[in-house]
Amino acid sequence: MRYCPNCSQPLTTKFDGGRDRLACPDPSCGFIHFGNFSIGAAAVVMRENRALLIQRGQNPGRGSWQIPGGYVEHDEPILEAVEREVLEEANVVAKARDVIAFRHSIGGSIGGPSTNLYVVFRLDYIDGEPSYDNDEVIGAGFYSIDEMAQMEGVQGLSRWAIDKAMRAAGLKGLHPENGQTSMPARPGWQLFGLHHGDPDLI
Ligand SMILES: [Zn+2]
Repeated sequence: MRYCPNCSQPLTTKFDGGRDRLACPDPSCGFIHFGNFSIGAAAVVMRENRALLIQRGQNPGRGSWQIPGGYVEHDEPILEAVEREVLEEANVVAKARDVIAFRHSIGGSIGGPSTNLYVVFRLDYIDGEPSYDNDEVIGAGFYSIDEMAQMEGVQGLSRWAIDKAMRAAGLKGLHPENGQTSMPARPGWQLFGLHHGDPDLI
């Protein structure tokens, strides 16, 4: 980033919060570039001991298999994002139940360094046979651990997430708690918390 997105002036370096950051020189603007952040949401959907996988149709990783998922839009609740990705990529209707894992990664990409949070949800299968658009996705189906072992190009991160979901089948992860807490509901907020079995204590 070289120019202020608010007022288009060339950015300069400013010492802020203990480090140099790109900042707008105009004090009446005050823009500071804190970096490039993104959130991904991914879905482990199990049906009869088989996990839903999709095969990527585009690079990076064309031909590889992974759990459905994608970027969360900046104005989109993460629960809706993960259910949308499952529907868009595999034509499967599933309902998000809880968060079972996440990955934080710091990496480089087009546009400079970036930081990404990739949140893995467990979803309950509702309806639909896997199908795909033959463009972004060129394969989709439910596969057992044994079947995955015979497939080429199954993404390690997806295998890790599926393994986590299967081993933790009887446990409860971070649940959506909107409307169940003593805090007043706030627009745009979605709270997730550990389930402790006693609704009076929430
Ligand atoms: Zn500015």
